[in-house]
Amino acid sequence: MPEADPLSRESGDDIVTPLRLRPAASPSVTVRVPAKVNLHLAVGPVRKDGFHELVSVYHAVSLYDEVVVEPADELSVNVVGEGAGEVPTDSDNLAARAVSAVAAVLGRAPDVAITVRKGIPVAGGMAGGSADAAAALVAVDALWGGELDRVTLEGLAAGLGSDVAFLLHGGSALGTGRGEAISPVLTQGEYHWVLAVADGGMSTTAVYAEIDTMRDERPLPRIGAPDGVLAALRAGDAVALGRVLANDLQPASLRIRPQLQRVLDAGRDLGAVGAVVSGSGPTVALLARSAAESVRIASSLAGLAVCRTVRRAHGPVAGARVVPPDSAAG
Ligand code: ATP
Repeated sequence: MPEADPLSRESGDDIVTPLRLRPAASPSVTVRVPAKVNLHLAVGPVRKDGFHELVSVYHAVSLYDEVVVEPADELSVNVVGEGAGEVPTDSDNLAARAVSAVAAVLGRAPDVAITVRKGIPVAGGMAGGSADAAAALVAVDALWGGELDRVTLEGLAAGLGSDVAFLLHGGSALGTGRGEAISPVLTQGEYHWVLAVADGGMSTTAVYAEIDTMRDERPLPRIGAPDGVLAALRAGDAVALGRVLANDLQPASLRIRPQLQRVLDAGRDLGAVGAVVSGSGPTVALLARSAAESVRIASSLAGLAVCRTVRRAHGPVAGARVVPPDSAAG
């Protein structure tokens, strides 16, 4: 049986999903959500609303956060896992904002306790906060009876952040506008990544400000349209994909954190078929030609001590999904 898709419920239909079969008194809902890498990130001019015009090819990879929601007297956030200390636990937390947004639509109080288990590096350019927002939307909707249709959830996602809509969907997708207008792309095959996680995060705002400054100083080459990436995904060709990975923000990330160049160089020297800074950085995504190659590259890279930690992941994977109660960790 295909995996139940909590976003497949259209308004007015009567598809019965496992969410609706949950007993009313079920104590909590857990949603697992992946990180993203940008296979292509073209950054255009700043728009009137202050956001940059983007063309992004998003790719969801198997590095996950979990968001748990349970009924409580008031809204609270608890964050556990790596980097938890750097994540706000007040109303600035993107998962809390997502819960409040759903509560506002349903006209009820956002009275839930949220636990975020971080597996996605914080401020790593892998959209961890946006992932938690997407997960919280799905989780609290399920907790409160699954009343929201896909269009409403997508609208709330777009209002919460540029990457949130993609993390509802997962897979590989083209993002336009400020990244929130998502259309799926045809993808074949599985891609094996080695993720070099840096010591300390990087501010997305600072990286966008830096690219604006650099472009004011002198014209910079632009990466252009994502045709090569889309063709490689269609063909399922990891080597072709590796050749065309590109990110307009990379020069800015490198100027702020020059040591990332060593990671990119080391990855290529070790045989990665592609190497790119993920989003605003500082995580560097290395594409391997096979799963076995990713194991070899990851262990060699760890030995070079050019980054804080090395993770392996594959993609594309599904977006935010409810974890069946039997398999949710306690
Ligand atoms: P992006 O790739 O979307 O630019 P990022 O992966 O670089 O983002 P995040 O992990 O999303 O960075 O964190 C960016 C900032 O967002 C953090 O420094 C933190 O202050 C804030 N934030 C708010 N809510 C969360 C959350 N649930 N998890 C992580 N960070 C959060």
